[in-house]
Amino acid sequence: MAHVFSRLPDKPDHYTLELEILETWEREGTFEKLRERNRGGPRFSFIDGPITANNPMGVHHAWGRTLKDVFQRYKALRGFEERYQNGFDCQGLWVEVEVEKALGLNSKREIEEYGLAEFAARCRERVAHYAEVITEQSRRLGMWMDWDADYYTFTDTNIEYIWRFLKAVHERGWLYQGHRSTVWCPRCGTSISQHEVFSGEYKELEHPSLHVRFPLKGRDGEALAIWTTTPWTLPANVAAAVNPFAEYVLRDDGTWVAQALDPEVRALRQALGAELVGLEYEGPFDHLPAQEGVVHRVISWPDVALDEGTGIVHIAPGAGSEDFELSRIHELPVLGPLDESGRMLPGFGFDGLSTDEVEQPVIDDLDRRGLLLDAGRIVHRYPTCWRCTTPLVFRVVDDWFISAEEIRQPMLDANAGVEWTPAFYSKRMDDWLRNMGDWNISRKRYFGLPLPFYPCEECGTLTVIGSRAELEERAVSGLEQLEELHRPWIDEVPIACSGCGIEARRIPEVGDAWLDAGIVPLSTLGWENAEYVPQGYATGAGKGLTTADLPDHAYWENWFPADWVSEMREQIRLWFYSISFMSVTMTGRSPYGRVLTYEKLLDETGREMHRSWGNAIEVNEALDQMGADVMRWQYCAQPPDRNLLFGFGPAQEIRKRLLTLWNSARFLVDYANIENWKPDWDDLASGPAGDLQTLDRWLVARTNALVEEATASYESWLTVNVVRAFDSFVEDLSNWYIRRSRRRFWDGDETAFRTLWYALVQGLRVVSPVMPFLSEHVWRRLTAACADAPESVFLAGWPDAAAPDRALLADVADVRRVVELGRQARAAAGVKLRQPLRTLVVDGAAVAQAHVEEIADELRVKEVTFSEVDASEVRVRPNLPVLGPKLGRELGAVRAALEAREFEELPDGGFRAAGHELGPDEVLVERRGKEGWAVAGADGVTVALDTHLDDELEREGRVYDLIHAVNTMRKEAGLELTDRVKLTIPEADADLHAYSDWIARETLAVSVDADGSELRIAKV
Ligand SMILES: [Zn+2]
Ligand SMILES: [Zn+2]
Repeated sequence: MAHVFSRLPDKPDHYTLELEILETWEREGTFEKLRERNRGGPRFSFIDGPITANNPMGVHHAWGRTLKDVFQRYKALRGFEERYQNGFDCQGLWVEVEVEKALGLNSKREIEEYGLAEFAARCRERVAHYAEVITEQSRRLGMWMDWDADYYTFTDTNIEYIWRFLKAVHERGWLYQGHRSTVWCPRCGTSISQHEVFSGEYKELEHPSLHVRFPLKGRDGEALAIWTTTPWTLPANVAAAVNPFAEYVLRDDGTWVAQALDPEVRALRQALGAELVGLEYEGPFDHLPAQEGVVHRVISWPDVALDEGTGIVHIAPGAGSEDFELSRIHELPVLGPLDESGRMLPGFGFDGLSTDEVEQPVIDDLDRRGLLLDAGRIVHRYPTCWRCTTPLVFRVVDDWFISAEEIRQPMLDANAGVEWTPAFYSKRMDDWLRNMGDWNISRKRYFGLPLPFYPCEECGTLTVIGSRAELEERAVSGLEQLEELHRPWIDEVPIACSGCGIEARRIPEVGDAWLDAGIVPLSTLGWENAEYVPQGYATGAGKGLTTADLPDHAYWENWFPADWVSEMREQIRLWFYSISFMSVTMTGRSPYGRVLTYEKLLDETGREMHRSWGNAIEVNEALDQMGADVMRWQYCAQPPDRNLLFGFGPAQEIRKRLLTLWNSARFLVDYANIENWKPDWDDLASGPAGDLQTLDRWLVARTNALVEEATASYESWLTVNVVRAFDSFVEDLSNWYIRRSRRRFWDGDETAFRTLWYALVQGLRVVSPVMPFLSEHVWRRLTAACADAPESVFLAGWPDAAAPDRALLADVADVRRVVELGRQARAAAGVKLRQPLRTLVVDGAAVAQAHVEEIADELRVKEVTFSEVDASEVRVRPNLPVLGPKLGRELGAVRAALEAREFEELPDGGFRAAGHELGPDEVLVERRGKEGWAVAGADGVTVALDTHLDDELEREGRVYDLIHAVNTMRKEAGLELTDRVKLTIPEADADLHAYSDWIARETLAVSVDADGSELRIAKV
């Protein structure tokens, strides 16, 4: 006979099951059907922050992509129409650096020799390749996106939108070319923007630590002592700064230092910093050509730190950003000692040496001239390039900036209307906006957004081109070779200056990649675009890679702003910032209404993952070995404001926990097949029909409560609460409902089947966004027999559950607390659960009185009474993991008070000791009752178990042991649940014959004989 349900194996094979589901979705067109079903529904607008198509994705990307998918799936279940557009970031330094590595190029000169057109082609190939790799990985992860319609940030369309933005900021007067000290990567040969230098890119590096004498002019034998860790900056020294308010002392070696930094010193003389200001000194490299004419003097700087160095700071405005700012105030000369590749320029004495190579020669030179006080080494945190990890330097260069001053307040105002999850990140965004400097948008590189800036050498006008049409109109020549708006082709199109008409050429710089990603809320949604162009976004370098449309402005009105975006916390100063900057500038509105952001992913021991440390986990490895569902579960179970410790250990735990769900479904399938029971689809809408027992009504209420909790959790963008709610639901379903109802399933109780089926199917619907594969797999098994059921859980919509019966839920929660305490009491007294006992006394759980039978049955006692429990002896110990952090040094006193029994019990189950109130979960309580009684208590409930065993109880205990042993043998012998056996018990157990009927019933034995010394079963 064909079974109603196809059977489930012992445990799920996540890998195989997931591939099968992917294949099924593909074959049945499930995603397309879902989109079709929701077309015309209410809109849920999500804008994807682009992933860089430059490498396979990492497990931290998979976290973000999981969250994006979870909420898109949830909204789809609720009937929302969605766009599902995935984005790829395609150009800029990150792509260039990887292509350089692949081609074995290691400098800008080598790139230029290789040829920019060829280089651009390689960059595009790399993007196309990794876009495919990432797409494949994302599909495998279960992510549903419109994979053929991705946006690529290097399309001409995207570039044109950025041009338009740049033209607008120019018209507002925000665009300027700054002669500025900027953070510079010597290897990449470009400046690095403020938002690209952050704590994560600081590395522990070793550098020289030098103390150097700057002899004071006209003060015989006196000198300033300065400290530096960057010897290469000394040839560019022009001043020395002191704190005007600090005390300085002259030591007997003739050097001045801040008193705070050498407090023990015997001072020859003492002076306030202000008294030193204006003194002139001999620079450390006055003989160099670059130093010609420089007058070195002491300047005043209240920010001079008095906690490291000497309290006198050597100032080189061409080699440090604060130094540069000081040069403006004090009109100091700016000497820039480094070229683009971080090597010493002629005139600075160490021609062509790198900042590292120059260290020893500088030290030797100073030493020879008697200026070196001390040379050591120091290990300190030093910023490195976020792409190539080369230590960064400062250079004064001409870069292009967008002033942030006027947009700061509008961006703050826009952020005030944004709902952040977790909420405190809103303040982080505000902090970033309040402190953001001007946006350094230019990079001296190749494969990036071509900045459309055409300065005129003749009349000085800066023409900023705002569109391709405008470029064509102004072009003097070169249009015929303009394949796409990238270098080198764009560089061959000079224009006529808008001021004087003479030919002007584009600056060679390309743009910061955050311009590319920042424009997408406008460029992908068709802001101010007159006509909807099918596949109109697939332009320039994007041709052939995507079929994305260029929508029209009406479409933009519908989908802007995004209802929700979600990225890692670091995106506050990157993508959230750049899309906000560009949208607020162009439209006056925030591009998103709600944000979910989350912390970092570390390995399971809490260390950062690094390939070189051997602790990195590749996405494919995780997909194959954990499975996508388990990965997703790990991501979703994580509170977003804490770092995720990701790994195979936690994955193993999750697999184990998912088994409870699996086994519950398997239990239903196995028993339903025996009874040939068929589910009724309508039960999902109305609740299980039939004569429901209290326990059934409880499970229905429990299920409805799950739907309610999960809905609230999704609506507040907190997957961690969905996972918690589902976990506790499965625990209740398995360890209470099923365990309490086993016999009914055995007896083929229709109502029990209906109730369990209802709970399982509703539960799967609720958890399906988090765990799409297993949910879909089990859901299909459980609903296959229902003619009316949609083929996929994702086509079933969101469960519409009635308000749960809260009184009943509270009752059962009380009962379970009593049972749990009873178990604790048993465990404390060393009486195993199978051993029946005579009496349980319950104190403090009144509602449980209506459930005496359940309690008696669960705890295997003959009688349950309700009265005061004499538990005079109470031992209380601190729950250290909880109390330790809370009490800190007070813990000792509390612990001593508890030990000495100097405490007071509080009505809520807590205690007062040593002046502290301790909650019920902050202490471990052990109670001793009268002799022969085991006692346990918590949360104001106390139970006492009579542990005395008489002959009858002892015999019954043996019967339970025997039944357990037989059923274990049945399982080991591979018997079906319905197979009957002949049972032979050892002669020594012959006295249990009085219980034969009971034993036979519980083991499906047709006969029970006593013979020999071993327990035996034989299938009949
Ligand atoms: Zn670099
Ligand atoms: Zn001109």
